[in-house]
Amino acid sequence: MNAWKDSNQNWKNPIFVMLYPINADGSITTAQYIEQLDVQDFQPISEFLQQQAQQYHQSITIYFKLGSEIKQLTPQAPNSSSVLGIMLWSLKFRYYAWRYQQNFNAPASLSLYLNFYDMKTHSVLQHSTALEKGRVGLVNLFASAQQHDQNQIVIAHEMLHAFGATDKYDFISNQPIYPEGYADPDQQPLYPQHRAELMSGKIAWNAEQSKMADHLNQIVVRNQTAQEIGWIKP
Ligand SMILES: [Zn+2]
Repeated sequence: MNAWKDSNQNWKNPIFVMLYPINADGSITTAQYIEQLDVQDFQPISEFLQQQAQQYHQSITIYFKLGSEIKQLTPQAPNSSSVLGIMLWSLKFRYYAWRYQQNFNAPASLSLYLNFYDMKTHSVLQHSTALEKGRVGLVNLFASAQQHDQNQIVIAHEMLHAFGATDKYDFISNQPIYPEGYADPDQQPLYPQHRAELMSGKIAWNAEQSKMADHLNQIVVRNQTAQEIGWIKP
């Protein structure tokens, strides 16, 4: 555990995040979307994380770099939760990340492979996955301007996974876990919540229903997540 903590992110150093777009469904819509992407589109994510870190007296710097599109598809994530399947996929994915990495001026602190899909043909996307080991993440996103704000939430969520944060929603009910998955667990009355914790991403209307947050301005990073990624010392 201590050895792991030592290798944990040093937030005093600038974080370089490499973003690699991939046309995951091979569609023209997705191709056009990728073509107009600009590194500025991701700037609100670094502003958001810098603001959140400030709440914990951490002054952090995050730089995004947009790599060129990777034409090779990422290894298919396993459908089952078999440990062996996940291990094999994780090896294949890290090999893929090594094989297709592009060189920038600074070494990447984290590389995210952005699988874009046309919304008209894909209504539900597979879960995104970030591996703390190797600091690589596979992020599934919609290739649509109207999904832009939610895409930013998904990317920020996966970034913090890569730095050690755990999910804070129930995988079966899809509800945020109380209290750590709530933005305002002490609010009276508790429902409806108006914001979400980043690692749940969901705003609870009541104990059984919630909705995905629409915009980073509805998101906060609360203590447990801050502790997991090293913004607060345990
Ligand atoms: Zn997650």
